[in-house]
Amino acid sequence: MTARILVVDDIIANVKLLEARLNAEYFDVITATNGPDALDLASAHLPDIILLDVMMPGMDGFEVCRRIKADPRTLHIPIVMVTALDQVGDRVKGLEAGADDFLTKPVSDVALITRIKSLVRLKMLTDELRLRAETSRELGLEPAAFDPDAGGRRGRVLLVDDRRSTYERVQSMLLAGHEVKVVTNPQEALFVAADGDFELVMVSLALTNFDALRLCSQIRSLDRTRLLPILLIIDQDETARLLRALELGVNDYLVRPLDRQETLARVRTQIRRKRYTDFLRTNLQHTIEMAATDSLTGLYNRRYLMSHLGNFVDQSAERARPMAVLIVDIDFFKRVNDSHGHDAGDEVLREFSQRLRANVRGVDVIARLGGEEFVIAMPDTDLALAQGIAERLRQTVAGQPFSISGGRGLVDVTISIGIATFDRGDDTPGTLLKRADTALYRAKKDGRNRVVYDAA
Ligand code: GH3
Ligand code: MG
Ligand code: MG
Repeated sequence: MTARILVVDDIIANVKLLEARLNAEYFDVITATNGPDALDLASAHLPDIILLDVMMPGMDGFEVCRRIKADPRTLHIPIVMVTALDQVGDRVKGLEAGADDFLTKPVSDVALITRIKSLVRLKMLTDELRLRAETSRELGLEPAAFDPDAGGRRGRVLLVDDRRSTYERVQSMLLAGHEVKVVTNPQEALFVAADGDFELVMVSLALTNFDALRLCSQIRSLDRTRLLPILLIIDQDETARLLRALELGVNDYLVRPLDRQETLARVRTQIRRKRYTDFLRTNLQHTIEMAATDSLTGLYNRRYLMSHLGNFVDQSAERARPMAVLIVDIDFFKRVNDSHGHDAGDEVLREFSQRLRANVRGVDVIARLGGEEFVIAMPDTDLALAQGIAERLRQTVAGQPFSISGGRGLVDVTISIGIATFDRGDDTPGTLLKRADTALYRAKKDGRNRVVYDAA
């Protein structure tokens, strides 16, 4: 994971120190020592993260933050405010100015790297989202809606802590903005996490008689909770175990005594990230489906068929198993359109697709090649079986008229089918389809409504 980070601090020694630490983690660092320079660099270089000192002469960190968040070109860049430990009020001001996270001086290595990584991951997701929205718009599509402002609100949080003093405190901090479920018995935590629909789990590292790290590792390995962000609550002297937790995939941590603003900011960051990831995942699934299927019939399209047929062919060659390809073409389909209209033609195509689906196995792939031409690819199918299936399909279509005009009319339809089987080591999807097409051509020439096989 690499990212460009803008470090802003009026004290050169601080800048150099942060720069060295970030360089050691292979981040690309740019630096500024005053507000106006920071603004120039932010818009010129569009860094992935900005580490911003609060106390600077002239324009202070709050003002820089406000201006960056007011500029549409830079408002999506996460800002980490670097505050002095005793200036708790600064955090409130920082949040009001739009800051995403806080670091307290002196900045520890673990804190620095954990926060930067956490925010870089979030930034990568938001960038991806922006990019996709842009592509959708370029293609003339409405980008899928996602409201980034709502991204961190009303989260469903699971809190695993057996210390009344902390869980009550966390509960009261989060209650206004989130739904919090508290589990005080760590034995039950994994089940509750797997059963519920949580967006974040907060785990106390100091559970009595229970290894919180084990729980974290179980959450990470269970399928249902694998993608759930984990925010650890630690005591000040637990650095060694914290490092171990971060290795296990814990996303971030909070140190007792918990600071309200900091807690809210970290919870929000994790929930936003989870929502972005979920959104991208479902969106991607949808895009893949769209790219692989034909919109009229819901069958696979030519592109999907060609890649899948390649896999079938390889598999047959490797395992010396038969396979068959059918090309199915509706006879005189033009006449259906001509006499009943294009919409009726569409109805026939949809009904026809359903009859195809009902007559093949789940492992078979049915695709619409285009127009009124379809392909069925059948693994583990020899010639005799393929001929039987093709003949059954032919009868299924010819034996029962198709209803059109929403059920007000009927039309007789027949189909011709060409078959090819995989039986040569050098067969490819292309040669198979070619042979099936030659067979189909003969079926048409010999009078239609029939099945023909083309021997290699
Ligand atoms: P043949 O028996 O030789 O296959 O004759 P045919 O009329 O079926 O074949 P031809 O290729 O001449 O015409 C196919 C027709 O299919 C022409 C086109 O208008 C129609 N068609 C292609 N795609 C669609 C579609 O999505 N919807 C409708 N309604 N018709 C379509
Ligand atoms: Mg036709
Ligand atoms: Mg045709």
